Parts: sequence; structure tokens; C-alpha cells
Amino acid sequence: MSYEKERAVALEAVIKSCRLCDEVQRTLAHDDSVIKKDKSPVTVADYGSQALINMELMSYFPDDPVVSEENSALLKSPAGSTLLGKIKERIAGFHPAFNDIDIINAIEHGKTEIITTERYWAIDPIDGTKGFVRGDSYAVALALIENGEVVLGVLGCPNMGTSTPPTYDRTGAVFIAVKDKGSFTCNLKNSDEIRIQVSDVDEPSLANYMESVESEHSSQEQSAEVAKILGVQAPPIRLDGQCKYAALGRGDAVYYIRLPVAKDYEEKIWDHAAGWLIAKEAGGEVTDAVGRDIDFTTGAVLSGNTGIVASNGKFHSRILQAIKRVVG
Ligand code: AMP
Ligand code: MG
Repeated sequence: MSYEKERAVALEAVIKSCRLCDEVQRTLAHDDSVIKKDKSPVTVADYGSQALINMELMSYFPDDPVVSEENSALLKSPAGSTLLGKIKERIAGFHPAFNDIDIINAIEHGKTEIITTERYWAIDPIDGTKGFVRGDSYAVALALIENGEVVLGVLGCPNMGTSTPPTYDRTGAVFIAVKDKGSFTCNLKNSDEIRIQVSDVDEPSLANYMESVESEHSSQEQSAEVAKILGVQAPPIRLDGQCKYAALGRGDAVYYIRLPVAKDYEEKIWDHAAGWLIAKEAGGEVTDAVGRDIDFTTGAVLSGNTGIVASNGKFHSRILQAIKRVVG
């Protein structure tokens, strides 16, 4: 299937969200963010982005369920009214007539749990909120999953440039993949779409790798040990969220490694589905830290997997062997 309509709608939705997020990031004020119960930050832009994407999905694919990271509980509490007002101001640039209820309804269109496995969308409205708040990289992530298979993935990365050699300025880049149709990138105006391909470096000593900026999300110590065993010379590239999958897909780095710090942490589908397809369709290989395929049949949480290793596929098994030596 070509998923033409889905691709066009998803691309448009992600680009709109990137515009909103970029505007918020450039003017981020202290009271634009709050800390959630799980201690992670959430901002006007996380909610605004989720609302915008859901509004598009509700109008074009009203019957498709959506799983997404944010819920509206905080916005409906007395403490959330200031934040809701700010979200409305941001959404007004796209939908001037929308009121508080429209916005809450759009946010609530996405559930944090998913009960079907047939066909649904997964959204991370801002993947890498810590990077967003820091003023660094983040991604707007949207994926379509059918019968446990990711068939469409779009990543908007407003802080990644589109030029070659790669830049990490604020030009903005979008990455799109449809199953069996390859991975592409374009700018935030949705023009100049070009096909991307992973790096062809096949010698670890010439390779470079990526990991999270946040050391609580992925063990930087262990990935340094893995790099040492492999003979990698270059220092790690640290990027937030799924920008790492996008950067892998266009060959900026040779592998991306994510080794759990909290042993009971389970990865979420919205943190990986879009990036997984973009990396795969660009010729990459993606497994978990022990070499298992990523299982997207388990709902919102990837309970069948631990950690992530994504690479250009040239020496994936050597990376896994090195991880085994380091992690045991
Ligand atoms: P990254 O910048 O690659 O670390 O990705 C950001 C994502 O990490 C967020 O969207 C979170 O869902 C996820 N995350 C939060 N806590 C953890 C954790 N303890 N271990 C791994 N990932 C986490
Ligand atoms: Mg995320």
C-alpha cells in the first residue's frame, strides 16, 4: 500500500506542530512548563503540538484510534488554567475559533493506553522535552501502526538542518518513511524532498555513534565501554529524542545506542515507532540491546524489549557482542 493520504496528512500535521513548537521554544517563559507527577517536564508546546496533530487526524481519519504521551488531567485542574490559556493563544495561530473545550477534546482524542492492535496512530508531540526546555534538539513524532507493524513514520526535527554535511542549526528538517517505500527528508516548507540512506562505514574504528543527552535515559558509561571494545575513536554525538534515528537514517552517525539505566524502565511506542521505520527504510538495522527485533504488538509499552541498538547494519552483531561483554 502507498498510504498516500496518510502520508500527506501526517506530514502536514507534523510540520504545523513543528512551527508551533519552534515559536514556543524561541520565546520559552518560566511558566510555559510544569513538572508532571513522574517528574518529567511538560510544556505549552507538548499540549499544543498534541492538540494540533489530533485535530488533523480527527478531521481526516476520525475512526482511527490514537495513542499519545500527554493527557489533559492537569489542564482540567485549577492549576492548569493559565497553561490552557497559553495553549489557546498558540493554537489560535492555526485555528482562531477554537475554545478551551475544543482544545481539551483534541488533546483527549489521544489515549495513553491502546486497546486495539488493528490500526492506530502513535504520537509523541515533543519527544525530548528536556532538550526542548534546554534549547536543544527534540522531535515531533507521528507513526501509523497496523496489525503490530509500523507502516508510516514522520519525524519533525526543528533544530536539525537539512544541508550536507549535516548541520544542527535551526533550519529544521522533516523525515518521512512508508513501509517498503524508502525514507525521505525535506525542509519545514515540505519542499525539496530527497531520499536518505544510512552511512556505509563498515569499520568500527572509522565509525561514530549517538546516545541521549540525558544520562538517566541511557548509560553513557556503558556505551563508552562498548565503543572502546569496538575501537571507535570519535566522541559520542548526543541528541535528544528520535532525532537520533533521523540522523542515523541520513548517515550523520553509524550507530545509536540506548542502554537502560533504570532496570525496570519500559520503552514507549511513541518514542520509537516513527524513528524505527525511518532508520529501517534508510537501510538501517534496529534491535533491542540483546538483539531482539522491536515488537510493536504489545501496545503503548514495548514490554518485549530492553534498550535499543540502531545501526547502519554493517557490524550490528559486533555491537551486540560488545554490549554483552559490558552489560553481562
Ligand atoms: P532521549 O532524549 O533519547 O533520552 O529520549 C527522550 C525520551 O526518553 C522521553 O520521551 C522519555 O519518554 C524517555 N525516557 C524517560 N525516562 C526514561 C528512562 N528512565 N530511561 C529511558 N528513557 C526514558
Ligand atoms: Mg518521548
